[in-house]
Amino acid sequence: MTTQLKQPEMIQHMQFIDLKSQLELIRPQIDAAIKRVLDHGNFIMGPEVHALEKQLAEFCGVKHAISCANGTDALGLGLMAKNVGPGDAIFVPSFTFAATAEVVSWVGGTPVFIDSLEDTYNMDPKSLEQGIKQAQKLGLKHAGIIPVDLFGQPADYDAIQAIADEYNLWIMADGAQSFGASYKDRKVGNIGNIATTSFFPAKPLGCYGDGGAIFTNDDELSAIIKSLRVHGQGSDKYDNVRIGMNGRLDTIQAAILIEKLKIFPNELIARQKAADAYNAALKDIVKVPHVIDGATSAWAQYTLLLPEHMDRSKLIASLKEAGVPTMIYYVKPLHLQTAYKHYPTATGGSLPVCEGLSEQVLSLPMSGYVGGDSMHVSMLLRGIIC
Ligand SMILES: *Cc1c(COP(=O)(O)O)cnc(C)c1O
Repeated sequence: MTTQLKQPEMIQHMQFIDLKSQLELIRPQIDAAIKRVLDHGNFIMGPEVHALEKQLAEFCGVKHAISCANGTDALGLGLMAKNVGPGDAIFVPSFTFAATAEVVSWVGGTPVFIDSLEDTYNMDPKSLEQGIKQAQKLGLKHAGIIPVDLFGQPADYDAIQAIADEYNLWIMADGAQSFGASYKDRKVGNIGNIATTSFFPAKPLGCYGDGGAIFTNDDELSAIIKSLRVHGQGSDKYDNVRIGMNGRLDTIQAAILIEKLKIFPNELIARQKAADAYNAALKDIVKVPHVIDGATSAWAQYTLLLPEHMDRSKLIASLKEAGVPTMIYYVKPLHLQTAYKHYPTATGGSLPVCEGLSEQVLSLPMSGYVGGDSMHVSMLLRGIIC
């Protein structure tokens, strides 16, 4: 196959995440949605916020969807609702975006960093068990697990749930990157005791600003989170029954999300097609992302694992020259970062898999609008590597 490949021409104006094509497609609907909010003037907790929450809950097949200001607040509200505080160990992957661990520190808990699996990039259940024992040794009370659905693929929740049951831990699924994905017939949002997501513009379902949501089937948790979202209010608006925050989603962002949710199922199909094209063209020269049996990915990122001997910087520079933007998620695992390096790890020291991943991963352009460009990018990559 390699011999027939010709070096394709330079790709013009390719975006890493193509938000422009999406906007062009739905511009009139977005303009009309924003105008409706301007006309009714209910900018805070307006009718679109409630409509969106109903639609999100239906989409995920979960009882409660509670919108909020961003994906970080979503996690923070979950921890506040679970009363996490000093002395509590919360198990988080080290190979993730900082917000996953940051919120644990907000409430005074201790993030315990867990290693990842090399093929899915998600939390390694064996490392999780090791981390729980490590926390016991340190005299921490183990409270909960925050698995992350990295790059759009759900973590292995059956394996993690078995450990959670054994040690009496709850699960809050960080689905910031995986909204729209599924795990064994359950949609993200309907997994764990609590699930969260982010509507940051570059996430699979994004708004035009910050946004997020929390999901749960637990009526009591839902009521507590709704109260926490508005300064811990009680039945009377000015009678606060707990310490909360201002964590609301803007009505304008809700109106935008309602329009984007309509085209979202088609975008998920297009993302899967782009991932299939990348997989088919690249699987013999690099490690392509592995999706576990029974799961689907929302393909927030298409992330490759390069062979150890390969010079990643050179590859990135060559791709850039050819007009292909790439990103490295993540350059440094959290347990090696200044703000987090004093926290415990599962091994009490290094986490070899995620340290290796950070040196070899590479994310290629991905969105519902990559289309045939995934073929061009693959051919370019082959031309450079082979
Ligand atoms: C983006 C992200 C968040 C935070 O979401 P924001 O809306 O940006 O606050 C949390 N966790 C993960 C894994 C993320 O990728």
